[in-house]
Amino acid sequence: MLSKCSNKIFKLRYPITKLNIADVIYPIIVNFQKNMASWEVEKDKYLRINAETKRKNCVKVEDILTWKSLSESIKLPEPIAMKENCAINISKNNILAEKISIFEGNITNLAVDAIVNAANSSLLGGGGVDGAIHGAAGPFLKEECRTLGGCQVGEAKITGGYQLPSRYVIHTVGPKGEYPEKLKKCYRNSLEVLVSKKLRTIAFPCISTGIYGFPNLSAAHAATYQVRKYLEDNTDQIDRVIFCLFMDEDKKIYKGILQSYFPISN
Ligand code: ADP
Repeated sequence: MLSKCSNKIFKLRYPITKLNIADVIYPIIVNFQKNMASWEVEKDKYLRINAETKRKNCVKVEDILTWKSLSESIKLPEPIAMKENCAINISKNNILAEKISIFEGNITNLAVDAIVNAANSSLLGGGGVDGAIHGAAGPFLKEECRTLGGCQVGEAKITGGYQLPSRYVIHTVGPKGEYPEKLKKCYRNSLEVLVSKKLRTIAFPCISTGIYGFPNLSAAHAATYQVRKYLEDNTDQIDRVIFCLFMDEDKKIYKGILQSYFPISN
């Protein structure tokens, strides 16, 4: 009698229960899938993948000569003396010269902890190196950038690197035109972000020297001065700072200027 009765209830309820479960479960699944596709999940996923799996032909820090090794192995151009507003009293320091490199090529190939993006204040992508970085990282970089509320000149903000071999991207906004103090701030704040996240290797493009029109030589003085100064105060926190040089003009300038800001002793 009891089993007959419960059977009846079951038969009556089953279709209703089935409908209710579906109504409840389906939106949960859809929501879950939506979350799975968000930039946060992608960021986390890519941070777990090593650089070579992401990009077979990436260039690792160990493959790039330090400034000390490079300057001992090539014929260098004439040194470029320090500039007045970038002059510092420095001694020959091989430890610092081992923490600097120049890399000639595309910054999106570098497998470092962070590459720096010369972004615009919207952080939503643009031309030049910004376009190259967004293109190589994939669309989730822009999704994360949207959450950062833009960036002021001289500030620096960090995101994941997504499909880039570099783990993170540090976005900074350079000045439009020749404003050395603002440009130094870009380098200082980018390094500050790197160290605050306990990251140890970084690559910079020549910030502001493209579309933003900062003269290359003057920009190189500000960049190398600021990096030298920061490395002196934070030597143990950073393993390598790479100046990524894309234009022939910069390739020549940096080989000259580093002789002054990072002199080596034999
Ligand atoms: P900005 O707006 O700050 O001037 P740009 O992207 O126009 O930024 O130029 C900054 C520097 O980045 C220039 O020296 C330019 O040649 C260089 N550059 C452009 N594309 C790349 C790239 N893929 N990798 C490294 N450097 C790049």
